[in-house]
Amino acid sequence: MSENKYYHKDIETMSVEQIKELQGKRLAEQFRYVYENVEYYRNRCIEAGVTPDDVKGLEDLHKVPFTCKDDLRATYPYGLFAAPLKDVVRLHASSGTTGKQIVVGYTKEDLDIWDDLVARQLVAIGASKDDFVHIAYGYGLFTGGLGLHGGASKVGCTVIPISAGNTPRQITVMHDFGSTILCCTPSYAAYLGETLHDMGHDTSYLNLKAGIFGAEPWTEGMRKDIEKSLGIKAYDIYGLTEIMGPGVAYECQAQNGMHVNEDHFIVETIDPETGKQLPEGSKGELVFTCLTKKAFPLMRFRTKDIGVLNREVCSCGRTFVRMSKPMGRTDDMLIIRGVNVFPSQIETVLLQYGYPPNYQIIVGRENNNDTFEVKVEMTPDKFSDVIADIRKKEAELSNAMQSLLQIKAKITLVAPKTIQRSEGKAKRVIDTRNLIDNK
Ligand code: ADP
Ligand code: ZN
Repeated sequence: MSENKYYHKDIETMSVEQIKELQGKRLAEQFRYVYENVEYYRNRCIEAGVTPDDVKGLEDLHKVPFTCKDDLRATYPYGLFAAPLKDVVRLHASSGTTGKQIVVGYTKEDLDIWDDLVARQLVAIGASKDDFVHIAYGYGLFTGGLGLHGGASKVGCTVIPISAGNTPRQITVMHDFGSTILCCTPSYAAYLGETLHDMGHDTSYLNLKAGIFGAEPWTEGMRKDIEKSLGIKAYDIYGLTEIMGPGVAYECQAQNGMHVNEDHFIVETIDPETGKQLPEGSKGELVFTCLTKKAFPLMRFRTKDIGVLNREVCSCGRTFVRMSKPMGRTDDMLIIRGVNVFPSQIETVLLQYGYPPNYQIIVGRENNNDTFEVKVEMTPDKFSDVIADIRKKEAELSNAMQSLLQIKAKITLVAPKTIQRSEGKAKRVIDTRNLIDNK
């Protein structure tokens, strides 16, 4: 694993000047394509007074209007698709957003590129045809499972599409099938590590050598724990449904930031308040532009993830800029067990069931697994001191939340007026997980 390997050597190591030239050329073409094919976005450009003739290269990027999550909601389901739906061969959806989920699509060519970009990640960490890739990301509308699946198939690895869940069986399958690379969320990797030891085995029971973990924040401390408990090297992968899914950026063996696939995406950091571009190296909101996607090509999508870009030469020889781990968000989105949760979704359910919006979300971590509790105040007319009544109401709310959020919360009903009122901004979320490294 010491020798650096590349999936697309010429592209991954081209000079920064060449990358920028390619990006400029593709930006001009892609901006014209989106302008011509997405009416909603064209109207946005007309309002801003920008036409395709104004965007000739990278220096014009700042003129290109942003896209944000609200635009996806406003045009749900297909209003931002640029290709005819007959050319769309796959849909994916995000794990949940405020109110409505968002849907994205891929042409055959888009899927082929996606697979290639994930293949770069696998090869960067030493994968080859000899590897058995155990994919314990969820399969389905979530991009994790099928994203890694496509990349590993491209490399020619033996894919084990086990999906998430049934944890002891995961250990047995890893052992029996000889899995060498594990792909899942970092919290699930930690849980698998623990289960391995709880089942009375140590790392020698498995043939694993590396793992590719992403889709949620995790710290360097967690990386060390996972590496130790599973006896592997743990690598980070970044992506988001709106842009592509996993593989927008990938970590190499230097384990020091994720290389952004710059031939297919432009990444910028902006000041979230003013929207102004920041110099590389300053902390800001990450913004991505799709340069080659045909079905769902977003221009300057504001991710709300905070990060830093680093263009220093990397020891792996790749020249693509590296992004730090996301260091937080500009909105209140929580990622709990890999699922996006907004406090406003919880509020919607409570209001539907006649509860006041006095609640507290408590997120923690026990044995490397997220815990998720919602304390809800009863109204005087809902108040009851019969335990069975309370349990019934809790179960009802818990089911309603699970069907909206796709994740189970422990609901605790508390007596009226017992949740502390705040004089300023309500502190609705208590998150003790400490997932962001304070560097
Ligand atoms: P996915 O389906 O890939 O999880 P979502 O669209 O549901 O995509 O969520 C994307 C968000 O997940 C990102 O905007 C970011 O906040 C978070 N995320 C993805 N990968 C990572 C990572 N490696 N580290 C930290 N956060 C991540
Ligand atoms: Zn590198």
